[in-house]
Amino acid sequence: MSQLPTTTIIGLEVHVQLKTATKLFCGCSTKFGSPPNTQVCPVCLGLPGALPVINEHAIELAIRAGLAIRCDIPPLTKWDRKQYFYPDLPKGYQISQFDLPICADGCLEITDPADPDAIRRIGIIRAHLEEDAGKSMHDEAAGRADSRIDLNRCGTPLLEIVSEPDMRTADEALAYLTKLKEIMTHLGVSDCEMQEGSLRVDANVNLHIDKHGQRIATPIVEVKNMNSFRNVAAALDYEVERQYAEWEETGHTIQTHGKRTFGWDDVKCVTYPQREKEESADYRYFPCPDLLPIRIPRERVEEIRASLGETPEETRERLQSQYGIKAYDADVIVSQGRAMVEYFDAAAMASGDGKRTSSWIQQDVMRTLKEQGSDIESFGVSAEQLGQLLSKVKSGELTNDRARDVFKHVSENGGGIEDAIKALGIEAVDDSEMEALVKELLAANPKVVDDVKNGNQKAVGSLIGQARGKNPNANPQKIREIALRLIDQA
Ligand SMILES: [Zn+2]
Repeated sequence: MSQLPTTTIIGLEVHVQLKTATKLFCGCSTKFGSPPNTQVCPVCLGLPGALPVINEHAIELAIRAGLAIRCDIPPLTKWDRKQYFYPDLPKGYQISQFDLPICADGCLEITDPADPDAIRRIGIIRAHLEEDAGKSMHDEAAGRADSRIDLNRCGTPLLEIVSEPDMRTADEALAYLTKLKEIMTHLGVSDCEMQEGSLRVDANVNLHIDKHGQRIATPIVEVKNMNSFRNVAAALDYEVERQYAEWEETGHTIQTHGKRTFGWDDVKCVTYPQREKEESADYRYFPCPDLLPIRIPRERVEEIRASLGETPEETRERLQSQYGIKAYDADVIVSQGRAMVEYFDAAAMASGDGKRTSSWIQQDVMRTLKEQGSDIESFGVSAEQLGQLLSKVKSGELTNDRARDVFKHVSENGGGIEDAIKALGIEAVDDSEMEALVKELLAANPKVVDDVKNGNQKAVGSLIGQARGKNPNANPQKIREIALRLIDQA
């Protein structure tokens, strides 16, 4: 991006789909990927006479999310109807929250992408609950130019988190989104799967241009519904260039042209105008007559606050100090989510070796999960088993290679560590047996003995392969020790 004499002003609206089993106002399932229109009922279709009933779990998750981004949870929150007409919104209105959102006045701190030692504090204006609309699908059958409507998503709970326009670069927006996603997944508020639409981003962007001592603001553009962080960054960078060029050509400012809504074309990598932005007056908000306001007792907020546990940042710091692992390794584990952190904690406790546990989790465990397409919650090797296995490596009872065989056996066949060791025919070799084996090899390899005597201890390495050829259970470390001791004594 070229250097323009401008400041970019960015605010983000992030919709996260709350991880509830059922919808916000009815008992229909929120499961993703079911055949169209199979998860609907009179309430989410908005049929006459159907009445909404609040899903308590959605309220709980919204409060969790709000507390984690340092919002106030006001004692009273209410529901409003937002009127607009869309083919995928059969009721003709969306139940949302207008003037009394469930969360208000928070903030999120991010590391400044331009200076890793500095913190940027991004204000959060509000976070409110609302129901999702359905999905319109166009041109599903090639050449027919058809439109189909799937209402499965109608009524799915969303939390819309609205930031202050405090970000100045696409990198800052990415840092904010990454952090927000990490917190939401860590708390179990949302799975934030962007390809499934459970995290969607609208970006508000305009420029402040300094000219002849005056500050000129370009019209605000809201880029709607971007479904990857890469697209958000590309759209923001594109808008900076486009708005500057438009201003040079037309002189349009926020006073003359207010706010507009754009889409993002991720094939052409351009934004394009969609419609004039509705102001809130266009939605004719009014309190929902079907739903009472909700009182949220302070004790409940404090209970939820107490249940939040440590933040991802606190976890990262704790793992480094408690187990002596590097910042990078702590970051990899924490970024896998809370279940992985619990797995690591339990395995590292059982093995008594945090560093070894961390490297096994990053290599063997994560690779196996990927191969099996499964997650840590249903993984066949429990944290206690991994810990038990690694403590055997630590004590020299098993080599790394043999431990890998045991790990693979348990992950594929189940059962315990000792069962796998037995099944694989792995036996600990006793010291006298090892000594006899090494003596035999030294007698057969006089050159190795000479080399070591001449100061080249590495020469012993060639014995290890031979020893393990004769007895695959022989421990390389022990072979080395015994060989050096015997040569030294000779
Ligand atoms: Zn329903």
